[in-house]
Amino acid sequence: MTLRRWRLKLVLAATMSLFVVTIFHFSPYTNESHPHPVTIPVYSHDSSLEDEWMKLRRIQLNLPDYDDPRRGCVMPKLTEYNPVYKSQGYRDKTIKKVVCKKEQDWLVVRNGNISWNPVTIKKYSQGVKCLINWMTRVNDFKQKKREPALIFDSRVNSTVILEDDFFYADCKTRSDIVLSPTYRWSNIMSGIRPKAAVMQRKNDNFLLKKEQSPFNILILGFDSVSHVNFMRRLPKLYHLLTQELDAVVLDNYNIIGDGTTAAILGMLAGSYEEELPETRRGKSSQTVDIYPLIFKDFKRNHYVTTYAEDESSIGTFQYRLNGFKDPPSDHYMRPFQLQAEADHKKHLTYCLGSKPKINILMSWLQEVLTSYPRDVGKFIFGFHSEYSHGVVEELNLADEPVTQWIRDLKDSSLLDNTILMVMSDHGHRFSFTRSTLQGKYEERLPFFSIIVPESLKRRFPKSYHALQINAMDRLTTPFDVYETLRSILYDVNRGVDIGVTAHDVKNMTRGLTLFREIPLERSCSDGKISDHWCACNMWSQVDADKEPLAMRAAEAIVSNINRLVKESGQQSQCQPLTLKHVTRSQKMLPKKDMIAFKESKDHDGRVPDLDEKATIPEVVYEIQVQTQPGNGLFEGTTKYTFSTDSFEVNVKEVSRVNRYGLTSKCVSDSFPHLAKFCYCRDQSLTARDAGYMGIIMG
Ligand SMILES: [Zn+2]
Repeated sequence: MTLRRWRLKLVLAATMSLFVVTIFHFSPYTNESHPHPVTIPVYSHDSSLEDEWMKLRRIQLNLPDYDDPRRGCVMPKLTEYNPVYKSQGYRDKTIKKVVCKKEQDWLVVRNGNISWNPVTIKKYSQGVKCLINWMTRVNDFKQKKREPALIFDSRVNSTVILEDDFFYADCKTRSDIVLSPTYRWSNIMSGIRPKAAVMQRKNDNFLLKKEQSPFNILILGFDSVSHVNFMRRLPKLYHLLTQELDAVVLDNYNIIGDGTTAAILGMLAGSYEEELPETRRGKSSQTVDIYPLIFKDFKRNHYVTTYAEDESSIGTFQYRLNGFKDPPSDHYMRPFQLQAEADHKKHLTYCLGSKPKINILMSWLQEVLTSYPRDVGKFIFGFHSEYSHGVVEELNLADEPVTQWIRDLKDSSLLDNTILMVMSDHGHRFSFTRSTLQGKYEERLPFFSIIVPESLKRRFPKSYHALQINAMDRLTTPFDVYETLRSILYDVNRGVDIGVTAHDVKNMTRGLTLFREIPLERSCSDGKISDHWCACNMWSQVDADKEPLAMRAAEAIVSNINRLVKESGQQSQCQPLTLKHVTRSQKMLPKKDMIAFKESKDHDGRVPDLDEKATIPEVVYEIQVQTQPGNGLFEGTTKYTFSTDSFEVNVKEVSRVNRYGLTSKCVSDSFPHLAKFCYCRDQSLTARDAGYMGIIMG
């Protein structure tokens, strides 16, 4: 206990910080070591409080004393399991496996051909006959059967060449054998029919050196999955990506707006919806064909382009917007998915016939990779919502099949020349997660990973290195993904290792390719992200002598060190430490508008609805303390939760920032993990050893 603290006058509130209104009960006559806030702090729209936020913004720009004063964005480190989150309604559920019909599909579609499933042919020895109707897209909301049907008879043909990517199959066993019962099977099916126009593009491909193929890009997106929820709910996939495939994961990937369309437009058009021509339903009859989607760039550069989304009723470009008049890509799965949705009553949940729909989506994407020759670049974007958009826990269902699929891609060498991106658009957006701080952060911090082929790493070492730096330590956004896709086309494919120079700190554009180092200074305002979407926190220096909570935070760190020593049974060896001095303290605050954000006021997600009475649920302090005896310097982070009036310290994350040398010799051999925390009761031994051995500090 420091004497200085007792000199604190009885203070009400204001000491903590101007914008937090807190009433303290403070007793200087007891051993009570800290004041208790008795009310939950609230924001007020008092102008002095606005000033405080402005001041904090300025502080953020200067960023005093954080590890690097230039740093423009500090993100919270979210944990997969947050107790507060749990207490507010987060419940784990066991999700059953997806079970589809037992009867296997009678037909197999591969490499542009339809053939018979050998199991079916064996089972129905009398032969089977199918009516095949190709599926024709009328528009983004309608598709139809093309007539007449083609007759596919197992006794006549073994294969049929696809005339279109999708078809209706209506099959039955042949009935020419008297008395044999008739069995029927019908479904819709999908494949890739390579297009002559695309094949022609490769011949025009003057940009590439003959011996090099363009890099393919395969993106698999998940709707509504935060970064930590990806880790929570897709553990096998996360392990495969990070441990086996050496994925580069963007640690500070921040959304730019509300919902799917904002994220996808940021990525695929480098734009906010508001900047693009009006295409909203009821406001204009203009279709989204007018959008400058990156499919157009890839087509111009001789790629085959592919777009697939599995929940057509909430399509990114169709739910609020007018959809496409013409397909945006060479291969476009929407007609098939619309039909699948219309047919859902004929199938078990999440299935089409014997297969889970997610597998059908993934196989179709994979068919694009195998149906065109190597020198045709492939740009493939697939987006999955079915398991991820609704019930949080159902995302588990994707773990096994997606892991297996990516493993198969790898094992079939399909990733050798393919940049794979596994990503999500934003975190879960439903009410309860929006009401917790963890949920607010999670919504803003989706998952983004990039698996780079070895050949790219080898040929573009500087660009790859820049990508790694940006992933670990820089604020990144969907606009950067857009720029990165463009730089694959315009730099990487032309053999230019652009990573040799970093982005210019003075001329940062809104989107920055990840193949160049992004300046540490980059903040949400540089990335043109509004405050209510910004997950970067603000650090502000605090004077622990004037802010009781900071002093309590310091004491919490010291008492947690003592507790660890005690729990390890070493208090007979080590002296209890007391707080001598707070050498540095700062607190981390979420953006005010981020806390206040409830939801979008408008259907289009353009106008934020901010809660004027929003409270700050927690504050993180980063504190450096000097303890006695021994003058140890420790640095730790602790989170204070207002509702429980408690500090959370993970003592494993407390670092010792000065040398302790031989002062902890009594435990250094037997309890090495305690060495940094222990000041031995018997220092004579260590003094003698020090004299004998010279000054050896550790
Ligand atoms: Zn979404």
